Amino acid sequence: MTSSSPDTLSTDITAAQVQATLVQRPVRHLIGGQLVNSAQTFSVIHPGTGAVCAPCVEATRADLDHAVASARAAQPAWGATPPAERRAALLQLAAVIRTHQDELTGLITLEQGKPLATARMEVGRAAMLVEQFVQMEIAPESLRDDATGRVEVHYRPLGVVGAITPWNMPLVLSVPKIAHALYAGNTVVLKPSPYTPLAILRLAEYARTLFPAGVLNVLAGGNALGQWISEHPGIDKISFTGSIATGRRVMASAAGNLKRLTLELGGNDPAIVLPDASIDTIAQALFDASFVNCGQVCMAIKRLYVHASLYEQACERLAQIARAVKVGDPFAPGTQMGPVQNRAQFDIVQSILADTWQQPGARVLAGGHALPGDGYFVEPTVVAGLAEGTRLVDEEPFGPVLPVIAYTDIDDAIARANRSPYGLGASVWGGDAVRASELALQLHAGTVWVNRHMGADPFAPFGGARQSGIGRQYGMAGLKGYMEGVTLFLPPRR
Ligand code: NAD
Repeated sequence: MTSSSPDTLSTDITAAQVQATLVQRPVRHLIGGQLVNSAQTFSVIHPGTGAVCAPCVEATRADLDHAVASARAAQPAWGATPPAERRAALLQLAAVIRTHQDELTGLITLEQGKPLATARMEVGRAAMLVEQFVQMEIAPESLRDDATGRVEVHYRPLGVVGAITPWNMPLVLSVPKIAHALYAGNTVVLKPSPYTPLAILRLAEYARTLFPAGVLNVLAGGNALGQWISEHPGIDKISFTGSIATGRRVMASAAGNLKRLTLELGGNDPAIVLPDASIDTIAQALFDASFVNCGQVCMAIKRLYVHASLYEQACERLAQIARAVKVGDPFAPGTQMGPVQNRAQFDIVQSILADTWQQPGARVLAGGHALPGDGYFVEPTVVAGLAEGTRLVDEEPFGPVLPVIAYTDIDDAIARANRSPYGLGASVWGGDAVRASELALQLHAGTVWVNRHMGADPFAPFGGARQSGIGRQYGMAGLKGYMEGVTLFLPPRR
């Protein structure tokens, strides 16, 4: 959405072309190395029109049992494969993603609704993450080596990983789970969101021959399939990304065999702008970090606290940027923001907007409405005059709506930012980076940025504090989440 937004990189992909490929080659599950059909299907909707764009196979419980049995059977040999060979197979996966970048881009835009240029970046990022993750070394750690003896930690795979993902980034949230889990020597049963199953099923089809049969299984289905995966006694770990409410259910379902859990959950990230910040310099970055992907990013800025001395300037500038954003058909060249991804989320955003209009003191400075038509489009919306205790400030809207909140005392701002059950990300913006970084450490979040917000590094752990999650993804911490540490006591060297 920045002025350097690479819309010009979009290929000339049309919705009709993407749909034609789906008619020619409907998506299927990947189970035990085979592409598998189901008698039952469900409809995938294009959020730009609200119309059905493709049917998708729907897995039964028997399909899941088949996938888990295949994954269990394949795991010992895959776990015994040297990490260098697993790395090579995953690098081929990255190459396959890059080879099919155009097709995957079109599928993401069709099912998710993000503009082609953004979808294209998502595909490239998915490939890059695989390439980077496999550069990490899986090696024993030495904790003691002296006259009393040696203590080492060796890492081994957990077994079968069940991966469950949401709809906001169909590839970037699924591919890292596959890469970490397989690189660590596990096998995988992955279920994408029923709203966005197409791109990942197509990728699984292309990846079918890269791994021994049963190592990677991808099944589409609804929430019930997610629950069956979470409960399944043949699965050893769940890597889940989604809402806090579903995360709680997953945790309860996984208790039967005490599955290991990584939960990457919702966020309501605060950003704090200090009085020595330059609004002219940072306004576009603040806006982008809030409205990217139509505000549907777990670690987007969702509450913006601005010092009173800069407040009106910040509100005015952000509203100006919001009014200039080109919202519309995600396949059209030049579109900067597509629709909200699905009807249920669109309804949530509209109900938060309706509540906002009713709030005394609320000033809707830009947007504030859904667009007419059948697609799920919402105007980029900037709201001033709100404080905590309102839905827009307290809840995660997961849509293109930003409250800008005034503060006068920094300790008060930090206390208000921290007063939340969420704790995914946070940021501090100011001219004095040292001062900003001191304040950053007072914010309760898994990740805190100074003078930027958003962006994960493949080598840096990412995850939530408080109810925003359990465990970490990315980095060695993420990789270790897919392994069991075995502590080995040895006699001293002679
Ligand atoms: P969701 O929780 O509704 O669904 C996520 C997945 O869980 C889907 O595949 C769904 O079918 C499945 N599911 C639903 N019920 C289940 C159950 N009982 N047991 C097991 N699986 C079940 O989330 P969503 O609406 O798809 O995604 C939006 C949410 O995801 C937001 O809260 C967002 O912040 C969060 N998110 C977090 C991160 C992160 O890294 N922390 C990243 C992206 C999105």
